[in-house]
Amino acid sequence: MVTEPLTTRPVLRDKFGRVVHKLRISLTDRCNFRCVYCMPEDAEFLPHEELLTADEIVRVAGLFAEMGADTIRLTGGEPLMRPDVVDITRRLKQLAGVHRVSMTTNGFMLPRLAAPLVEAGLDGVNVSLDTLDPVRFQVLARRRYLKEVLAGIQAAEAAGLTPVKINTVVMRGVNDSEIGEFLLWARDTGHVVRFIEFMPLDADNIWQRQTVVTLAEILEVARTIGPVDEVGEDKASPARLYRFRDGRGTFGVIASVSEPFCADCDRVRLTAEGRIRNCLFATDETDLRALLRGGADDEALVERMRDAVAEKWAGHLIAQPGFVKPERTMHRIGG
Ligand code: SAM
Ligand code: SF4
Repeated sequence: MVTEPLTTRPVLRDKFGRVVHKLRISLTDRCNFRCVYCMPEDAEFLPHEELLTADEIVRVAGLFAEMGADTIRLTGGEPLMRPDVVDITRRLKQLAGVHRVSMTTNGFMLPRLAAPLVEAGLDGVNVSLDTLDPVRFQVLARRRYLKEVLAGIQAAEAAGLTPVKINTVVMRGVNDSEIGEFLLWARDTGHVVRFIEFMPLDADNIWQRQTVVTLAEILEVARTIGPVDEVGEDKASPARLYRFRDGRGTFGVIASVSEPFCADCDRVRLTAEGRIRNCLFATDETDLRALLRGGADDEALVERMRDAVAEKWAGHLIAQPGFVKPERTMHRIGG
């Protein structure tokens, strides 16, 4: 059942009746990694003046919150590369109607930033890590930063961002041999590993249907470790959650390709340059920045936001004949 939040304006609803509760904000398209499934090695980044300013982000998020978006996730690119990330986090958390602010990060800068972010009100963190092998890490991220990411995970834990969630994109023939190792690691550390099916949002056209390791396959590996029970959904994400019956280890699977969750999708994205995207796979966007910089009042912004959300489609068509790969790669969308 969809519960209607307490808002000062009517909630944002699409034409299929889905209400927006979650807003993902990309703070920048820049990144200090170059993950093969997300961006090209020679990526060009937006000039700084094209990114929304902190004031613009807070203003738009405040309007979303007034219309019922109570959960914010900061992402990118790499959100921690934004020098004002702590300030933005604090201001978003203080917005009326916002209950939770979390972040998805590659973890590299967490040793320095985890504690200030918690102090600013950050509620949770997902750290992306696809391999525990340093050589494979370099192949996947095109950087040698495994040690730094592991230190970032520790820093998040020490700052109280527990359980730390680990985002692991699984690619057949690349890192699928590590699913079991990740599960054992999760059982030892208490981190919640969330396996993500590889989606066609890469720059180098490496995605193919066969490279996707499905929910069913991941569960098969998990059951070689021990009996597993489904424990429902992760309320803050599209992950299906599972727990080992002996109580040691919870993990999730985000099955965007094999079992899409579009019918229940309550998310909307704001790109780093201020465009609303209704879906990772959307082929059109709605610009808010021109309105923001042209002196538009809140009513004009709200009208544009409502029109944009109303047009959200029923669902994506990954791997079906009508599928059109978006022009943007993941780092420019905000994953
Ligand atoms: N830089 C941050 C990070 O890596 O966590 C935040 C941005 S990143 C685009 C957000 C999430 O998208 C990461 O967990 C990443 O693994 C995931 N991702 C990127 N490209 C993907 C793809 N093609 N398929 C599935 N997940 C992807
Ligand atoms: Fe950067 Fe995150 Fe994309 Fe990796 S997944 S290239 S860390 S934005």
